[in-house]
Amino acid sequence: MNPDDVIAADADHVWHPYAAARSSPVFGTVTEASGVRLTLEPLPFAGGGPREVVDAMSSWWAVIHGYRHPHLDAAVRDQLDRMAHVMFGGLTHEPAATLASRLAELTGLPYVFFSDSGSVSVEVALKMALQYQRGAGHPERTRFVTIRGGYHGDTFGAMSVCDPVGGMHSMFADVLTSQTFLPQPPVGLDADISSWAESCEPILDGLSDIAGVIVEPILQGAGGMYIYPPAAVRWLADQARARGWLLILDEIATGFFRLGETRFAFERAGVTPDILCVGKALSGGYLSLAATLCTNTVAYGIESSDADVLMHGPTYMGNPLACAVANASLDLLADPELPARIDVINGGLTEGLSSALDFDHVIDVRTIGAVGVIQLDQPVLVHDATEAALAHGVWIRPFRDLIYAMPPFISTPDDISQVTTGMLAAAKAGTG
Ligand SMILES: *Cc1c(COP(=O)(O)O)cnc(C)c1O
Repeated sequence: MNPDDVIAADADHVWHPYAAARSSPVFGTVTEASGVRLTLEPLPFAGGGPREVVDAMSSWWAVIHGYRHPHLDAAVRDQLDRMAHVMFGGLTHEPAATLASRLAELTGLPYVFFSDSGSVSVEVALKMALQYQRGAGHPERTRFVTIRGGYHGDTFGAMSVCDPVGGMHSMFADVLTSQTFLPQPPVGLDADISSWAESCEPILDGLSDIAGVIVEPILQGAGGMYIYPPAAVRWLADQARARGWLLILDEIATGFFRLGETRFAFERAGVTPDILCVGKALSGGYLSLAATLCTNTVAYGIESSDADVLMHGPTYMGNPLACAVANASLDLLADPELPARIDVINGGLTEGLSSALDFDHVIDVRTIGAVGVIQLDQPVLVHDATEAALAHGVWIRPFRDLIYAMPPFISTPDDISQVTTGMLAAAKAGTG
């Protein structure tokens, strides 16, 4: 098929994320990708632009080592020569056993449940907490506490803990479990949390049916690219522990060094979760893979519940290709230089985006690790902003009032400067 036929067939038949079936919201056809760049067939807009564009999204934050990385490619090829897949019920294989051991070692959480997407890993986490509470003699603990502004996925359990305003609650209000939403903590890593904590405590005191607290630590991603203090994560962890609730951390976006400094945000916050969700970058962006990890206490607790086994088992659980490439990604993440490289990316984003604060309609610029965000005082005109960035050879996917980048960790200072130039152009073009 030539690229025009691809776009036509796509328009006729393909559904895209958060899109209507009969609209054709694509900006181009990606024919290949290498390093940090996607090759687009001539772009379907008059302004044109380079065919090769820096993927400032890392394909939704997953492709941390870039495209066609030799070490990851080799891991997939090698595994393909052995087997692409085998069922996980009653059987195991080396890539999954190795990956689980390595994740356990890195997180301190000994038990690993593999699934195929982040949303499912969140469903599994919620289910673990419910079954744990049953085993602990608290079958009445069936609901969850979270903070406003979160995003945990698109399946029903996950949706129920997404932000009730920005998420999809209004549309599905009748079918979603109602959960308890605490106010969003104050913005910024070093903000004082005392008045926020004071406002939360009476809400928590009034609850008797809570199985766990679930949050994205330090950075709320798809809910609004919102950075909040590690101290707030610690406060929530203390509250959970004191009340017999489990602490579930969703590090699907924040895990594997995205925030710089530490491999996981929970290490930076100085807390240990009872249950941890990882996904997105877990496979280096090669294949859909996620995992839910838990402590001994949670695993043993589930075994004392009436079901005595965890009631979940995806068909493609522990897919060997996905586990093999995840192991290869962990090899690369072991590079001791990596935190310094992310610091350099952070410096480039911070410096490159700073002038956006002088623009009309820009109300905030913030960065953490390999994340850079421009926030407007109005919804971004997504089409205009995207085209403006593409004209500078940068692929971004703005949403709501946000123009942001989460570039691959292999991005050079020049790549980052191209990204920030594209984002500034987007911020100008994307306001009415
Ligand atoms: C992306 C994301 C999810 C959902 O993962 P999918 O693989 O898209 O199902 C859940 N939680 C967080 C924090 C995410 O960023």
